[in-house]
Amino acid sequence: MDFAIARRRMVEQQIVARGVTDVRVIEAMKNIPRHLFVEVGLQAHAYSDSSLPIGAKQTISQPYMVAAMSAALELQGHERILEVGTGSGYQTALLAKLAKRVYSVERIAILAGRARKVLDQLQLSNVNIKIADGTIGWKDQAPFDGILVAAGSPEIPLSYLEQLDVGGKLVLPVGDRDQQILVRVIRQQDGSFKKEQLMGCRFVPLIGEQGWEDEGNG
Ligand code: SAM
Repeated sequence: MDFAIARRRMVEQQIVARGVTDVRVIEAMKNIPRHLFVEVGLQAHAYSDSSLPIGAKQTISQPYMVAAMSAALELQGHERILEVGTGSGYQTALLAKLAKRVYSVERIAILAGRARKVLDQLQLSNVNIKIADGTIGWKDQAPFDGILVAAGSPEIPLSYLEQLDVGGKLVLPVGDRDQQILVRVIRQQDGSFKKEQLMGCRFVPLIGEQGWEDEGNG
């Protein structure tokens, strides 16, 4: 299988055709080998229009969702970003190409370890990964210019609002355990928060102190 051709097709048919216009997001996605973030047996499906299992009952997000969430942060390249839910590390790799530094939190150690290896292989050295409950953010490194949460939360955790810099953008799925609305929150100069609903989505649950309870199945 020619991964480069599959990747170009993915970007044209799933990302550009659906209205993502951020040139930096499009260029970066043309260059990140998504097949390296899934197990060998699934590599033939790595550029398909879907999420895929990555072990530990978790998933690598659908390419369009990764693109749309990243585009919603409107990154220029100078930003410090908090990502919650490293998963496979694919979204992390994209953020690493779009921003200055990425602080990524994953609660499942085996996933964090695998993501670290692929990011190292791709020589993306501007990423710090921590194994922890990401619902409480990453206080030592706050404030952030952008926060991207790749798991569905019952409500917006207060810690993210507290750790968002003025002008900063938070993108996260909010809703019930298996269906959510993608929400963007922008911290205004006067300290208030502007909230927008972007689209419907389906993410695995955000589990932790300010998220869902761990039911042992997600
Ligand atoms: N964007 C990732 C990718 O493309 O591979 C996929 C992320 S996956 C949909 C969601 C991830 O969030 C899972 O790896 C899960 O373990 C993680 N997660 C859930 N709750 C978390 C929490 N409180 N802190 C950190 N990670 C969490």
